[in-house]
Amino acid sequence: MPEPLGPRELLALDRQHVWHPYGPMPGTAAPLLVESASGVRLRLAEPAEGRDELVDGMSSWWSAVHGYNHPVLNDAARGQLERMSHVMFGGLTHEPAVRLVKRLVDITPEPLQHVFLADSGSVSVEVAVKMCLQYWRSLGKPRKQRLLTWRGGYHGDTWQPMSVCDPDGGMHELWQGVLPRQVFADTPPPGFDAPADPAYADHLRELIGRHADELAAVIVEPVVQGAGGMSFHSPEYLRVLREACDAHDVLLVFDEIATGFGRTGALFAAGHAAVAPDVMCLGKALTGGYLTLAATLCTTAVADGISRGELPVLAHGPTFMGNPLAAAVADASIELLLSQDWAQEVKRIEAGLRAGLAPAAELPGVRDVRVLGAIGVVQLDHAVDMAAATRAAVGAGVWLRPFRDLIYTMPPYITGDDEVARICDAVCAAAREG
Ligand SMILES: *Cc1c(COP(=O)(O)O)cnc(C)c1O
Repeated sequence: MPEPLGPRELLALDRQHVWHPYGPMPGTAAPLLVESASGVRLRLAEPAEGRDELVDGMSSWWSAVHGYNHPVLNDAARGQLERMSHVMFGGLTHEPAVRLVKRLVDITPEPLQHVFLADSGSVSVEVAVKMCLQYWRSLGKPRKQRLLTWRGGYHGDTWQPMSVCDPDGGMHELWQGVLPRQVFADTPPPGFDAPADPAYADHLRELIGRHADELAAVIVEPVVQGAGGMSFHSPEYLRVLREACDAHDVLLVFDEIATGFGRTGALFAAGHAAVAPDVMCLGKALTGGYLTLAATLCTTAVADGISRGELPVLAHGPTFMGNPLAAAVADASIELLLSQDWAQEVKRIEAGLRAGLAPAAELPGVRDVRVLGAIGVVQLDHAVDMAAATRAAVGAGVWLRPFRDLIYTMPPYITGDDEVARICDAVCAAAREG
């Protein structure tokens, strides 16, 4: 065993050498050092704001839906580790991947029958884009190679996904002119329950019609736009997209990397609209937050189209494709989710968030408070003071990671009512201080 390093030493080395998400090098704000995590709690190596344990309001970026250190997921990982942690997927296959893929086909919209396992959400979006472009190329329409999306989205940090993220004010604004130029519709009008705006529906139809001969696909996050602004829209627009895509020979891609596995109250957000896409991306909660894994699902029409082309293969194959450890944990995580009344748990958390976040609407500087499923958002009328907001949340015993003008939470589904209330108090405290 290597000599253990003390907290001071670890943080000094971290600052010197370790690059953190969306940060400079060296980092400016010191990260908190986590020693272990169990249930909905993160245990800190050193107390911060007088707390050595924090209730997790983030599910580690939407992923840890069952909480941490879960016995069922631990068993799945341990059992698979003793058989094999990895073998290559070219020319070989294994039970964890086959089982997982069958399960994904069973629980997603019926037309999605074929699954490409990728190693992260961004890569699954790259694969989705490659599928769509190659499909049209195979059908003798190589001009169809642009994508249409609506503003305010987020689809990952690699090149093609960056090109369909919100082009203004987002993290990738720097790269305008370098990224592929895509077609952007206006941001969908806000409100999950708001009646669909006929003028906006016409705007979507018009834009898809106008660009049809150069569009390979429309790609959107259904119902909830996550990292692009944490906003919700009417499922009706998904039906509009489906009809317009069918009418104009354009494929429809749903990026359910954030919304999948129950987060919005439906198992997949597409379910709110009863719309099936041609291609769907899954990730984040796929392994219950244990390991990195994502999936790109497609219809038989898309798969057949690609396989009839001049290059009748999908030329993609990550080294760690179909990783057995990740697949085994993902399969166990989905089974665990479906074995319980997850929809009731999400409803319970939704009610807790509605009650607990309501007072935030009265705070000065708060523009909007919104809740859908196990997602709670407080939007300020100014950029969040990250340091002050984080300090206030940690002081209240909760881990939050605000961004831009947003303080938000999407807790693990196992979060108890008292803990949901505590998270809400922390969000309010962060909104007051941030
Ligand atoms: C997080 C996210 C991605 C990117 O997934 P990574 O695993 O971080 O690469 C893509 N799309 C959506 C909607 C996401 O929320």
